[in-house]
Parts: sequence; C-alpha cells; structure tokens
Amino acid sequence: MSTAASAGRVHVRAPGKINVFLEVGDVQEDGYHDVATAYQAVSLYEDLWASDAEEITAHVSGDVPLGDVPVDERNLAVRAALLLAAATGTDRGAHLEIRKSVPVAGGMGGGSADAAAALVACDALWGTGLSTAELARLGARIGADVPFSLLGGTAIGTGRGDELSPALAHGRFDWVLVLSEEGMSTPVVYGELDAHRARHLVDIGPAPRQPRVDPDVLHALRQGDPGMLAAALRNDLQAPALKLRPDLARALETGERAEALAGIVSGSGPTIAFLAADDASALDLQISLSAAGLTALHVHGPVPGARVV
Ligand code: ATP
Repeated sequence: MSTAASAGRVHVRAPGKINVFLEVGDVQEDGYHDVATAYQAVSLYEDLWASDAEEITAHVSGDVPLGDVPVDERNLAVRAALLLAAATGTDRGAHLEIRKSVPVAGGMGGGSADAAAALVACDALWGTGLSTAELARLGARIGADVPFSLLGGTAIGTGRGDELSPALAHGRFDWVLVLSEEGMSTPVVYGELDAHRARHLVDIGPAPRQPRVDPDVLHALRQGDPGMLAAALRNDLQAPALKLRPDLARALETGERAEALAGIVSGSGPTIAFLAADDASALDLQISLSAAGLTALHVHGPVPGARVV
C-alpha cells in the first residue's frame, strides 16, 4: 500500500481529452455508434481525493459551472467506486472529493475522467491492486471514454471508442480551448447527426461501414507537426453540434481569423479546440479570443492518464 493510501487519503489527477479525429459509423444493435477516433489527453485536469469512509459518497466543487452534476450513484465517479467494490468484494467505503476543471457536458470527457480517477484512487485506498487493463475493463462499463482517461497520452479508439491502441506522438501540441457556459448532451448531438444523415441520404450516402482514422492524422502525430495535424483535424459531430448551437460557428471563425492553424469542436461539443503552431502563438491566440469576449484557456497535450499525485 502506498504512503498516501496508508494515510487514509489518496489524491488522483485525471486529464480531459480532445478528439483530434472522430469518424462516426452506423448505430449498432446496442444503440451505440461505431466510431474511429484519435484521442489526445490535455493539461486540463480533474482532481479527486478519496478518503476512508463507511459508505461511498461524493462532493463536487470546481472552477467550471457545475450545472446538474449529481453527487449520488448517478455520479460517474461514485458509479466507478461502486463497481470496483463489487468487482473486488471489498467492504470498504470511500468519500470522494471531486474538484472539476474540465467543463461539464463540454465534450472533453470530464465525467469519464472523474470515473477513471475514482477507479485509480479507490484501488490504491483499498489496496485492491487491479492492473490498468482490469480497471479499464471496469471503466468501459461506465463510459466509452473512461479507458482513455486511464491510459492518457495519444491513442486510437475504435468500437464505442473504448477499444484502445496507443498512437505514437512526438513533441507537444499547443491548444487553445474556448469554453461555453452551457453544456451539450452527447446523445442529442448523435441524434442530430442521425437525423441529418437520414434527411440527406441521397446526397451524402450512408454512414461509413467501417470507420477508420485517416492515416494523415497518424502521420502528423508521429511527426509532431501541428501544421500537418491542423489540415487533418476532423469531427463528424461538428456539423450537428453547430446546427444545435449556431453561436459556436462564430467562435470558430474568430479563432481561425486570429492565429489558429485550425479549430474543431471537441467530441460532442460545445468546447472548441484551436490548434496553435507553438506555445507563443497559443498565447497570442488566447489573448485575441479573450479580447473578443470568449473564455479561452491554453493547454497542451499529450499528458499522462489518471495518476496518484
Ligand atoms: P463526453 O465528451 O465523454 O461525451 P462530456 O464531457 O460532454 O462527455 P460530462 O461532463 O462527462 O460530459 O458529463 C455529462 C453529464 O453526465 C452531465 O450532464 C452530468 O449530468 C452527468 N455526470 C455524472 N457524473 C458526472 C461527473 N462526475 N462530472 C460531470 N458530469 C457528470
């Protein structure tokens, strides 16, 4: 047992993510879409402290509007702790103190990061000693993005996005995020994509049978070349997200008129991620976006997955 765990309190930090590429295929029988995505973990973190307790409980605070984040067993971190307890047969409890910096319902996998952090923290607190692969299998039952938040770095996700293979990425990519006050529901955005595809079947054809990540994305990541990556960014959820939230198009235009190499809606939105050429350009871009009245944050990736601090 680690020193932190023996002291009865474990601090874990887990990153949010950007999907630098997301191709969405058909809806499967289980109601989920088949996807092919390239994830990058970025330096915007959820902090979670797990301490000894009789039951599994949670308290949530944060730098971002907390909206409707529940603290009962609907909270993804609580669900993760309950699942770990059931899987390992422990009779221990934990109080989870969650400090959020990843926007809620922002398309950056904040809830998934909390679930990943809870798995790592409770595993250390309880001394249950599961491997990362075992934690990822449990995490996938909570949400498709949980295994990636455990792994971190840069990775390709297929299936629901939870079948992962690490991707080679060199150097560091500088991103400027534009945050929205109000979140978006992931199922609603997928629903809008399905409706759009059904309406325009004749013009755009059916959804790709076997989604796959564009080799140009993998090449750009391997080269550590932001210019090349900017040209290959793609997100099939961007059009439906913009249809539901036309104000995002203005934010995208503002960044692209400034120093951004390119901008993309992150996951199901509404967070927008602009890729910058380097650290200095990202700082300039952040200043321009802030001057335009937007909430802009400079982050970088890739960063490691959920870790005991
Ligand atoms: P993704 O990019 O993985 O689709 P997201 O980042 O858009 O997800 P989240 O912030 O992970 O969205 O959560 C969406 C919803 O999940 C929230 O509206 C909230 O009701 C519920 N939820 C449950 N637990 C949490 C949690 N710990 N943090 C945030 N939301 C949570």
